[in-house]
Amino acid sequence: DLAPLQFQPRHAELKPFVRSINTLLSRVRNSAERERALIADAAHELRTPLAAMRVNVEALHQQSTDPRQRELMDSLLRSNERATRMVAQLLQLMRSDATADAGMPSSLRLDTLVQDRLAEFDGLAAAAGVELELVATGPVTVSGDREGLVSLVDNLVDNAIKYSPRGGTVHAALERTGTEVLLSVSDQGPGIAVQWRERVFDRFFRVPDQVQSGSGLGLAIVQNVAARHGGRASLHEGAGGGLLVQVALPLAPGQGSD
Ligand code: ADP
Repeated sequence: DLAPLQFQPRHAELKPFVRSINTLLSRVRNSAERERALIADAAHELRTPLAAMRVNVEALHQQSTDPRQRELMDSLLRSNERATRMVAQLLQLMRSDATADAGMPSSLRLDTLVQDRLAEFDGLAAAAGVELELVATGPVTVSGDREGLVSLVDNLVDNAIKYSPRGGTVHAALERTGTEVLLSVSDQGPGIAVQWRERVFDRFFRVPDQVQSGSGLGLAIVQNVAARHGGRASLHEGAGGGLLVQVALPLAPGQGSD
């Protein structure tokens, strides 16, 4: 019964109340921590069987000459790829929630990292009939965790390709401004209506009624990784009419406004 406490808020009487609030808070914290660990473990354990499935289906695909069977196996491989990507996204988010597990920061070249990641998407872009372009202004070094930044870039490029029309171009650009580097990725897709722009950074949120499949985790990862590096992510209208996502990251020390 809290009524007497409310009327006589003497210090000594508040103590047990504060104590039980603290106990409650630590229980909530522990259960959130357990939930995070459970999701991270499950995601981690799912990686191996998913990889085994892929290898086996690929082997069957190579042996089969039946077009119907090959079609079904192509569809299995696409589903496997989606599940693998979602598991990787969950792991990335759960790891970055636990500061202890987040990668150690090191000095790394963002321009070459972006270039390498774009090269990895060549096949996917070609299959989607999308052109990839990078405009970078020389070497740019940031202090960060490579795995997190790779995931940030991958999610931006993957989205830009996924939401691009066939024949469209995805532009990636790096630009230094004073103490920051601005990474932008833009496409010529439908963009995101203003009413959803705040919410698309939420975990699992997806704009309703869209044809493309996805997990709703990509932009949450982008924002989370940017924030962890002392940066921020924002959405804009692209020059080509689509979406432009911009990520600002602090430059590594010693690279200031020279
Ligand atoms: P996912 O793409 O897996 O659904 P994201 O978190 O990456 O999840 O994106 C959240 C939502 O934002 C998407 O469902 C989509 O509606 C929208 N979105 C993200 N990137 C783009 C883009 N480049 N063009 C248009 N819409 C986008």
